[in-house]
Amino acid sequence: MTVNRQWQLVSRPEGRLEESDFKWVEGGLDPLQQGQVRVRVIYLSLDPANRGWANEEPSYREPVQLNRVMDGIAVGQVEESKHSGFKKGDHVQGLLGWQEYAALAGEQLTKLPELPVPLTAYLGVLGHIGLTAYFGLLDVADPKEGETLVVSAAAGAVGSLVGQIGKIKGCRVIGIAGSGEKCRWITEDLGFDASINYKSEDVYERLEETCPQGIDIYFENVGGKILDAVLARMNRYGRIPVCGLISQYNATEPVPGPYNFVRILTQRLKVQGFIVMDYLNRSDEAFQHLAPWLMEGRLKYRLDVREGLQNAPQALNDLFEGANQGKLILQVGPES
Ligand code: NDP
Repeated sequence: MTVNRQWQLVSRPEGRLEESDFKWVEGGLDPLQQGQVRVRVIYLSLDPANRGWANEEPSYREPVQLNRVMDGIAVGQVEESKHSGFKKGDHVQGLLGWQEYAALAGEQLTKLPELPVPLTAYLGVLGHIGLTAYFGLLDVADPKEGETLVVSAAAGAVGSLVGQIGKIKGCRVIGIAGSGEKCRWITEDLGFDASINYKSEDVYERLEETCPQGIDIYFENVGGKILDAVLARMNRYGRIPVCGLISQYNATEPVPGPYNFVRILTQRLKVQGFIVMDYLNRSDEAFQHLAPWLMEGRLKYRLDVREGLQNAPQALNDLFEGANQGKLILQVGPES
C-alpha cells in the first residue's frame, strides 16, 4: 500500500513559526474521484507568503484550515488520472501542498511544457516567481531606459530577476541584500550596477552614493527601515511596486508605518501593491519573454534545494533569516 506523508497545520503560529505548529501525518491514499488527478510531488516551493497563509486572518486568499495539509506550490508527476486532460507521466504544477501525493481536480493543475529546462525552473523563473518579477516591474512600475531602479531582497528569487529584467530594459540597477557574498553575486554575476549590504552599511548614505540622480523605481520586497531610507531618495513621479514586506511577516505587534510617508505626497509617487495571482491569465505574455531570456543566458538564477519533506517547517524559516541562497525549494521525491 502506498503511504502518503504530509504536514498538517495544527495551530496558528505566533511570530516565527515552529515545528509544533504542524503535525506529521502518515496515511493511505483516498480513491480518486472522476475528474481528479493523482500527483506525486517532486519539488515543493517554499515562499515567504506561506507564513501568512498560516495566519487566522484572511488576506488575499483564505487561510489554511487547521488540521488540513499545509498549502504550497509544487511540481510533480501524474501517477493516475480520471481527467481527460492528463495522463500518467505528465509533469504538472499546482497547489499540491506539503505532502508526497496530492489528489486534485484537473482544473486546479497546469500541465508543464516540454522545454529543455530543469523541472525546478517551473518554481522559479518559469513559474510564479518569474511572473511576479515580470509583471511587478513591467506592468506596475513601467520602467524607462536610463531610470534608476532599486530592489530589495535583491539576491532572492524575485529580487534577482527584477534586477536583471531592469538591466534588460536599460535601467541603472542597485540591489540591497543582506550579505557580502549576496552583494558580490548580484553585481559580478548578474550585472547589477551597485549593491548595498543593509546589514553592514548605512543604507541611507549608500543610496546617496549609488543613486546620484535619485531613485525612479523602488521594487519593494521588505518594508521597514529600508523602505524609509529609499523614500527619502525617491524622485518626483517615482513608482513603488509593493511586492512583499517580509520584515513584518513574523511581527507579533502592530508595525509602524514609514516615517517618510510624506514623500509619497511631495514627490507624487505611485505606490501600488500587486499579487501575482492577478496576472495568471497573462502568464503566456510573460513566459514568451522570460523563456528566451533564460535560454539566451540573459536571466540567471540560483536554486537552494533542500532534501526531505520533513524539513519543510525549518527550511521555511530560513527565508526570514536570509539563510537561503536563491530560490528555496524542497525536494520531496525523486524526479523519476
Ligand atoms: P527570497 O528568495 O527573496 O527570500 C527572502 C529574502 O528576504 C531572504 O533571503 C532575505 O535576504 C530577505 N529578508 C528576510 N528578512 C528580511 C528583513 N527583515 N529585512 C530585509 N530583508 C529580509 O524570497 P522571494 O523572492 O520568494 O520573495 C521576496 C519577496 O517577494 C517577499 O516579500 C515575498 O512575500 C514577495 N512575493 C510577493 C509575491 C506577490 O504576488 N506579491 C509573489 C512572490 C513573492 P537577505 O539575506 O538579503 O536579507
